[in-house]
Amino acid sequence: MKYLSTRGHGVQSGFCDILLGGLAPDSGLYLPECYPRIGRAELDAWRGLPYAGLACEILSRFIGDIPSGDLREICERTYTPEVYRHARAGDDPAHITPLHWLEPGRLGLIALSNGPTLAFKDMAMQLLGNLFEYALEKRGETINILGATSGDTGSAAEYAMRGKARIKVFMLSPHGKMSAFQRAQMYSLTDGNIFNIAVTGMFDEAQDIVKAISSDAPFKARHRIGAVNSINWARIAAQVVYYFKGYLAATADSGEQVAFCVPSGNFGNICAGHIARRMGLPIARLILATNENDVLDEFFRTGVYRPRKASETRVTSSPSMDISKASNFERFVYDLVDRDPAKVAGLWAEIDAGRAFDLSRTPYFARLPAFGFVSGSSSHADRLATIRDAHERYGVAIDPHTADGLKVARQHISGLPDGVPLLVLETAQAAKFADTIREALGRGPEIPAGLQDLEALPQRVDVMAPDAGTVKAYIAQRT
Ligand SMILES: *Cc1c(COP(=O)(O)O)cnc(C)c1O
Repeated sequence: MKYLSTRGHGVQSGFCDILLGGLAPDSGLYLPECYPRIGRAELDAWRGLPYAGLACEILSRFIGDIPSGDLREICERTYTPEVYRHARAGDDPAHITPLHWLEPGRLGLIALSNGPTLAFKDMAMQLLGNLFEYALEKRGETINILGATSGDTGSAAEYAMRGKARIKVFMLSPHGKMSAFQRAQMYSLTDGNIFNIAVTGMFDEAQDIVKAISSDAPFKARHRIGAVNSINWARIAAQVVYYFKGYLAATADSGEQVAFCVPSGNFGNICAGHIARRMGLPIARLILATNENDVLDEFFRTGVYRPRKASETRVTSSPSMDISKASNFERFVYDLVDRDPAKVAGLWAEIDAGRAFDLSRTPYFARLPAFGFVSGSSSHADRLATIRDAHERYGVAIDPHTADGLKVARQHISGLPDGVPLLVLETAQAAKFADTIREALGRGPEIPAGLQDLEALPQRVDVMAPDAGTVKAYIAQRT
């Protein structure tokens, strides 16, 4: 399987070549040259597979340069009930992403947040950790991962990379700006290869430091700096698997269809759903949910893609969806414009210059329904009402991101063909967002077993000024 850049210049021969890299040389994103097709008979044959086996079947279609025995071993080590152990009472952790029906046959949650950090980012990041380790070992190389986090990504990366010999992680976070639970998750790690750096500033300043260091090519090369951000293709590929798993769990026969509703930020999660659909998975609808930061909802309603300025980005109660620009969206648009890289390059010349593009009067806009997409957004009041309603009707506590999804799902459920179940992706557990749960339900969420004492553990973090030079010196001393 070859990989191409969405902007046309950059062909890579294999998966491992792009695993450790970031953007293509032309600043585009990598995609496989074609999507593997999965027929109905094959899909039915996969019904009995455990998650790891399904992951191996699907990933092997995208990965030509890891021998199948090795890939199987990596998947089996990644997708275990021990790693994904935080299943809700009544759900079977052996299913890794258990389907939890709210209304049997009609409306369900796919639990993607049973991993170590209680957010769906573990689904891909745990695999990435094991793939990195494998590829670095083969090449005799090491890597120093540098990132900035406002919460979920940093902890998912640290829990995936902890204790790995050829990998160090330097993770910047804004001092005092994360929830107590999120802080405890990251700062209580004592592994020698994990370095938590709290900068006395905002998330954007932490992000700017990462950008500054990553654009210093000599420093980057000398200290073997790498990234695990959301544009990484391996993360998208890993996420394709749970769309198949969810489909198989909700249907008895591959003639049936399902719909998915996805709380979205950087368009990584739902991009994997789009790819699953292109591979032949019978998905009637992909429903994209945003919060008040509705840049994607606006596109699917109007055809105008207008990334916001950082200053226009609102801080909301579903913070992992507070984005102004959706970094994976370019992958979808590449398919929407019939994989014409010149067209994509033209559109992103506008975006990169800080402007917008408008497809409303082009044939592309008219095709969005054929791609299965519809969208909606929610407000803080909507999320509180949805959390309360789900608790009263179904006895479940959902987190504010999943509440974005459930609210928008309800808006679209009547438009689905008869008998098509709607599956909302549960992207985090309520325990991570205690304040909002308390506001909605009048009491805090239950904390999963084994994590009750997390906030009492000793914490290890180095606090420093938001200054790239200081951070560089810190990294240089430790690599
Ligand atoms: C990252 C995240 C999202 C957004 O996912 P994208 O892939 O960026 O669209 C939604 N919910 C939670 C809890 C997240 O951590």
